Amino acid sequence: MENYLQCQSCGMTFDEQHKQFIAKEKNGSDSIYCTYCYKSGAFIAPNATMQDMIEIAVPHFTRKTGDEEAARKYMTEVVSGLSRWTAKGKTYEYDAVIQSSDIGKGGAYVVFPYNIREEFGKGRVQVHATFDGEPYVGSIVNICRRP
Ligand SMILES: [Zn+2]
Repeated sequence: MENYLQCQSCGMTFDEQHKQFIAKEKNGSDSIYCTYCYKSGAFIAPNATMQDMIEIAVPHFTRKTGDEEAARKYMTEVVSGLSRWTAKGKTYEYDAVIQSSDIGKGGAYVVFPYNIREEFGKGRVQVHATFDGEPYVGSIVNICRRP
């Protein structure tokens, strides 16, 4: 198993000071998660989202630095790279211009430059995304675009 230096769910650093927070697998080996996130082979909050993790951590960092925006931005970067949030699928990273939608009530979208049916085998996919460091949870849907 790879030796991770931080909890792969919430990003807690496993340094000397925090070693006791490394959770155990059922067989007694070290988990890649911390004791706040993981217990006896299962996540303590299995339905938690990446966004939840970020919001839990932000106040801790804000207390240290006093800058909530910077804390959120930092946590988004850290947490979005952790294996709990990336292992289920690939991470797609690309540049896109945010378009405004003229369909329905408006809103905004970016074009996902892959064929989602080929990539995921279905026409609607939940995504955890960051736009210039700003976290977003939503979905990709198949729409017909006329040229
Ligand atoms: Zn954790």
